[in-house]
Amino acid sequence: MKLETIKIAFYDTKPYDMDFFDRENRNWNFKFKYFKEHLSPDTAMMSKGFDAVCIFVNDVVNKEVVEILHENGVKLIILRCAGYNNVDLQAVFGKIHVVRVPAYSPYAVAEHAVVLMLTLNRKVHRAYYRVRDNNFSISGLLGFDMHGKTAGLVGTGKIGQCAGRILAGFGMKILAYDRYQDEAFIKAIGTEYCELDRLYRESDIITLHCPLTPETQHMINAESIDKMKKGVMLINSSRGSLIDTAALIEGLKSGKIGSAGLDVYEEESEYFFEDKSDAVIKDDILARLLSFNNVIVTSHQAFFTGEALTNIASTSLENAVEFFENRPLKNEICYYCNAGTSKPCPKKAENLPRCF
Ligand code: NAD
Repeated sequence: MKLETIKIAFYDTKPYDMDFFDRENRNWNFKFKYFKEHLSPDTAMMSKGFDAVCIFVNDVVNKEVVEILHENGVKLIILRCAGYNNVDLQAVFGKIHVVRVPAYSPYAVAEHAVVLMLTLNRKVHRAYYRVRDNNFSISGLLGFDMHGKTAGLVGTGKIGQCAGRILAGFGMKILAYDRYQDEAFIKAIGTEYCELDRLYRESDIITLHCPLTPETQHMINAESIDKMKKGVMLINSSRGSLIDTAALIEGLKSGKIGSAGLDVYEEESEYFFEDKSDAVIKDDILARLLSFNNVIVTSHQAFFTGEALTNIASTSLENAVEFFENRPLKNEICYYCNAGTSKPCPKKAENLPRCF
């Protein structure tokens, strides 16, 4: 199959996606069609006539969508992101290959997590509006030295490690938790792994960098919040559903949670990335979150740097080239490799270049 004849449908496309993907496509000349709509059971039929679909974090690939894409002849799902919790890997296995961008800029996401910490701590979001209104009072803006405080890292993968290094640079003590431990990283920043309970108990700032899985869904809930230090700062730049938002709101109301920086929200798909400035927010939980002066919500923008978008476009298209040139897929994800089943993937068992 010649690359110039391959048709790729993009869902949930924004102007910046088109800029970066069009630029990168000068190397390959795939045929692109950009749709604004999210991929869902209602929009999956738009994939008819395309060889591949390219999707983002709030597009849905459930059983129903898989059936429609498969029937329409789609052979490849290109995730232009790292997380894949929006894909039913079991439903898609054996029918459509799925590739992703495992790392595009861990720095971008880690740096944004730290932006949220610094802003909340020094109340820059409030100071900015005060001085614009000629109010030069600093009462109520008291912060704390990060130096000497304890940061709890949940997840020490690519992003968690970048965040850990930045925070260690501030002179913070780091406590880390991960299911799989990286001793070289922990040694390099002179710290230790511990159990979650201790991390909750001792951290002044807790920052989440683990993926959303059935195990991590709502890991931050009433019970875990109860174990935390009074006044703790909670940062989530990973996936919204790691936090039970109703429990977070109770924690903020009681003062147990001192502040929260959220780049993601469990029901974000209807709002994030969209201009809703002319609409009324009907999601009462989101509206309540936005009403706290010690909460900062950003619209899933942690990844949003020029470097990251360049890497996303180039890796996504290289993934497509590998697939359509019948080469082994470096960045394939599958039910057996990635969903933690006990059965090994046929790729590993039979030394195949692809998962099926
Ligand atoms: P990674 O795979 O390099 O690291 C994830 C780490 O989490 C791994 O070390 C893994 O062992 C650990 N982990 C898995 N299950 C765990 C559990 N139950 N408890 C604790 N740790 C666990 O991934 P990454 O590139 O560091 O990305 C982390 C997450 O950040 C992604 O899954 C994604 O959801 C999110 N993300 C958000 C943005 C954004 O713009 N806000 C951008 C990219 C990624």
